Amino acid sequence: VRRLHSDEDAQILPRPPVVTVMGHVDHGKTSLLDALRQTSLAAKEAGGITQHLGAFVVGMQSGAPITFLDTPGHAAFSAMRARGAAVTDVVVLVVAADDGVMPQTLEAMSHAKAANVPIVVAINKCDKPDATPERVKVQLASEGLPLEEMGGDVQVVEVSATNKSGLDQLEEALLLQAELMDLKARINGPAQAYVVEARLDKGRGPLATAIVKAGTLVCGQHVVVGCEWGRIRSIRDMARKVIPQATPAMPVEIEGLKGLPMAGDDIVVVESEERARMLSEGRRKKHEKDRLLKLEE
Ligand code: GDP
Repeated sequence: VRRLHSDEDAQILPRPPVVTVMGHVDHGKTSLLDALRQTSLAAKEAGGITQHLGAFVVGMQSGAPITFLDTPGHAAFSAMRARGAAVTDVVVLVVAADDGVMPQTLEAMSHAKAANVPIVVAINKCDKPDATPERVKVQLASEGLPLEEMGGDVQVVEVSATNKSGLDQLEEALLLQAELMDLKARINGPAQAYVVEARLDKGRGPLATAIVKAGTLVCGQHVVVGCEWGRIRSIRDMARKVIPQATPAMPVEIEGLKGLPMAGDDIVVVESEERARMLSEGRRKKHEKDRLLKLEE
């Protein structure tokens, strides 16, 4: 009998990129995410009605999916990173074509650099009469961003979240970036996953939007999520369809946790409820101890 779980049985396959949108306040991060979300499968299946679930997927139909984290801004990116959740593969740096490079644009650039995450630039608001995308490119280049059209490797796309123009080009640029990065994941075996958002539903209890990093998360499994635990009662895709299991980079909503986890919490599969309780209790104690130590400082 061949043994499972050996390295040679690991199935490594290409996976979709996970993208975070960053940039200066009011440059259109939320609007761009809204525009992209409206093209997602969930939006199509729900007849245009979309809900903020922490992540969404575009391009499912074409078989070239891209997962977007639906929380714009640096705080979310940093919080996730601080908790060890390196989920983002590519940063979309949104810069308003009329406003140009601003302090938080530079901050986003340095966050991405520190995390070693490549940037694709989206020059937004190109519909505006006072838009000067060329000026923005010069500014970015002078801040040390090696733009493709100047011989570097950072792609730039001109978009308008308002007119929904340039979105296809942005998606193409992200897929090209993903291809260059040769993103792959082990798809069989126990799952390693992260929470990107969690909320309490009156009827269904704690719900967590999760992204699997590696392996497969299966309905019925016992899990520890941060300091919480539970047994997965259902897994749904972003169109809210019940699915039996979740594979890498596809956001899913999981139900069955006993408490509310936090964005950035890791999800670990364990073999029994007893083990799940023990591990979460241990983590809770450690968490509390760390908190008290911090207070003393
Ligand atoms: P955020 O703070 O980066 O999330 O920016 P928002 O998405 O909230 O956008 C800030 C403002 O810019 C809002 O009034 C938007 O309607 C406007 N805006 C966003 N994108 C565009 C665009 O492509 N064109 C124009 N003309 N206005 C935009």
